Amino acid sequence: MDNQTIINTADTHFLNTYKRFELCIEKGFGSILYDEKGNEYVDFSSGIGVNSLGHNNLDWINAITNQAKKVSHISNLYYNDTTATFAKNLTNITGYSKVFLSNSGTESNECAFKIARKYSFSKYGENRHTIITLMDSFHGRTYASLTATGQPSMHKEYFAPFMDGFIYKSNIDEIKNSDLKTVCAIMIEPIQGEGGVKPLTKEFVEEISKICVENDILLIADEVQTGVGRTGKFLAMENFGIKADITTLAKGLGGGLPIGATLVNEKLENVLVYGDHGSTFGANPIVCSGANVVIEKLADQTILNEISSNYKYFYDKIIKMKNVKNVRGMGLMIGIELESSILAIDVCKKCISSGLIVLTAHDVVRLLPPLTINKDEIDRGLNILEKVLEDM
Ligand SMILES: *Cc1c(COP(=O)(O)O)cnc(C)c1O
Repeated sequence: MDNQTIINTADTHFLNTYKRFELCIEKGFGSILYDEKGNEYVDFSSGIGVNSLGHNNLDWINAITNQAKKVSHISNLYYNDTTATFAKNLTNITGYSKVFLSNSGTESNECAFKIARKYSFSKYGENRHTIITLMDSFHGRTYASLTATGQPSMHKEYFAPFMDGFIYKSNIDEIKNSDLKTVCAIMIEPIQGEGGVKPLTKEFVEEISKICVENDILLIADEVQTGVGRTGKFLAMENFGIKADITTLAKGLGGGLPIGATLVNEKLENVLVYGDHGSTFGANPIVCSGANVVIEKLADQTILNEISSNYKYFYDKIIKMKNVKNVRGMGLMIGIELESSILAIDVCKKCISSGLIVLTAHDVVRLLPPLTINKDEIDRGLNILEKVLEDM
């Protein structure tokens, strides 16, 4: 199909839940994407933080093709070497006790909510089921995760009723002043991603952790976007020196295939029992074989250090660019605040027509390049961004 036919076909047959850019991507290599005509685009988005190893990573491709030749899916009724190995590797690298595997970020959070509520119910009985989340947070699109999302604009009246038992707070005092006797969990993103690339401070996370410990409230870290090396640590919470009771992962974990993981500490490892939860596709062997490669690569401290130091490299260059007000984030999760006259979406469109793919999050330009991006690719992308910002 030619470009226009692809666009027309997609627009005719997909539900209108997305506003796609007029760009048909055919293939990718490293941190470069190619459209149908062979034009090149530096990829500062990695499929919204998914392609952690870049495009066409040979080790990843070998792993998933070898697994596909053996068996693609078996369900969770049987054992398999690849999936058992993955569960071991993931719990080892994160220091968690056990994991439940699903297929997306929103599902990994649903599992976390169920664990939190059952833990509290079993220990304290009814009416201690409230889950506190933060204003501007994003936790997913299924009903509980959508309700947990602290953005009023996402709670459209035509989707009502939403779920009971979620409340939204902006600061420590608000959290302290809520009826903590009714609260079973507090959920945070170490850096709010969709909400505008807003890192929490160490002090804030420490305070929340203290409240949780004092009240036997579970701390849930939604690391769907920040986890898997994105900030230069395997888990972003390591930057604050705090380990949540439950951590959820997704996006970058599969290196390009759908996966969600809900990790729990020892205290929670026996909360869910047979029949409490499940997923047909969860722990899919092909997905796990690719995720094993992602973990293997990130077990090397040099790549994590490189991700960390890349932040300063991006920061130093972008902060000097025209129309930039501020740069924030950690590792390869970067938010660019623009002068108020400039719209992030306009920068994004202009970047695409100039050969650079960036994301937006509310009013900021958001960068989530592949974790394996090299200096040459970074420089190519930043040169395009500089020219675009110059011409706005
Ligand atoms: C993307 C995201 C989700 C939702 O993940 P899906 O895979 O789209 O369900 C949840 N939480 C955070 C922090 C995210 O960035």
